[in-house]
Amino acid sequence: MNEPDGDRSRVRDVQEGEVRRNIIDQERKNDPTKRIITFTLNSDGIFLKKFSRSVWISCMVINELPRSVRYDSNNIILCSVTMGGTKPKKQHFQSIIVDWVQELRQLEFGFYISPPNFNGNFTKVHAYLIAATLDKPAQALLLNLNEPTGYYSCVKCTIQGKSVKVGGGSTRVFVQRSHRNIQRRCNALYDVHMMRLSQRKKKLKSNDIDPACGHRGPCVLRQLSYFDMGLAFVIDSLHNVYSGTFEKYVTSVVHSMVHLPQSVKDFGPVHHYSTFNFESVVGSIVQSVNGPNLIVAELINNIRLVQCATAKLNTTSFSTDLILFVHRLFASKRQALPKQTVSNENNFIRAARKLKLSDDHVVMTHLQSTQHMKFTLYETCWKKSVQFTVYDPSSTTQTSDSCILFRNLQSEMNCGFIVAIISNSQQKIKLIIHQVHIDQHDAFTLGNKHIVNPFVFWRRLTHPPGLVTINIEDIIVKIAYSKVKNIFHFYQYPNNVEST
Ligand SMILES: [Zn+2]
Repeated sequence: MNEPDGDRSRVRDVQEGEVRRNIIDQERKNDPTKRIITFTLNSDGIFLKKFSRSVWISCMVINELPRSVRYDSNNIILCSVTMGGTKPKKQHFQSIIVDWVQELRQLEFGFYISPPNFNGNFTKVHAYLIAATLDKPAQALLLNLNEPTGYYSCVKCTIQGKSVKVGGGSTRVFVQRSHRNIQRRCNALYDVHMMRLSQRKKKLKSNDIDPACGHRGPCVLRQLSYFDMGLAFVIDSLHNVYSGTFEKYVTSVVHSMVHLPQSVKDFGPVHHYSTFNFESVVGSIVQSVNGPNLIVAELINNIRLVQCATAKLNTTSFSTDLILFVHRLFASKRQALPKQTVSNENNFIRAARKLKLSDDHVVMTHLQSTQHMKFTLYETCWKKSVQFTVYDPSSTTQTSDSCILFRNLQSEMNCGFIVAIISNSQQKIKLIIHQVHIDQHDAFTLGNKHIVNPFVFWRRLTHPPGLVTINIEDIIVKIAYSKVKNIFHFYQYPNNVEST
């Protein structure tokens, strides 16, 4: 497990952030050898369309684990899995989570573990929940606060917000004109608000100032020693930094950017605690459900299977073929970059789903003129557990594995869609790419300075397509895109760790 050094000017990860350092200082005053681990919580729902059921999952990671294995499915701690017709209601949610919050309190008192390098000896460890990374609706649910479109809906401060007309309706905007009347949320302020809430006799009218600043009721996480009812709600890069920056109004999402520097100071760089990491894990688990009758039972069973299987992968006696099979089973559709930790690259490149012929005539003509050896066409391939698929223009799904950045002879960065995956008699996998020539980037002029955002660009596809052939090793990263009329907008999230 990682322990930070004494250099407080450097914050590379959660354990070097100010919050964890302060806990260590506090707890080691009386016992300098005290062993401490900390958790980051995620709580999120997924709506299973095919069964009209909402599944809500709360889980945690151990911040002290090395980043490369922290979000592995066998290292995720599952707190609760619940299911209903809709997402949980605020008035019920606290009673759903109270059981595992009680267990978290027990873990604070300490428990005994026997790490692999301890030769069967036990050591006492204390565990504390210190952070929660949540999207806006989940924040409101967990903290028992007004919805993100309502007044006082910021989990970090007591900014009230203003209603403005947009089109036919209205939206809530949060513009900070001065610091007057805006307080940072924290445990002490939460306690004041709870007291005011308990003294409230009748319901608030729409124009009343809310003395409880948006709180609807208590939040049981307050019972924990080091979960601060303000600081602990970290800024999430997926739902705030990336999506918020494209919004036109200063909605609650955009407002939360004000709190980003504090989050980084408290917990380190955002990509270590982004909901990105959890979405990949939770999403793949929930998608594993087959039948509508026993969803929760099936989920728990599948999670156990995944955890057992991944735990066995590390034992040396395990068959290499089976290791490959298990890796393939858990291959993420959502990861952007191949994991660098996988050492034997050749073992982790695979193609699947043979195709007889490509249904694209241009691609077929290109193949016949460029491929002189016998080859087989495929629909999908994997490079180190990351899945890539042939582009399907008629697909309506929200996720796609077909758009990539790649390098070729001329330049380092090219963008394009995979239109065919071929494997020749030497088992070399090559990709045919419909290349997109990017010439328009997101940009703006500030004063006399022209600022270009290299991560957002757009372009029409060319007809006939300009096709190039590359080796699978030349893939750099998967990228996301959206299509408006005939124009493709491409987004390379500047997060080289997880999902696009
Ligand atoms: Zn705020």
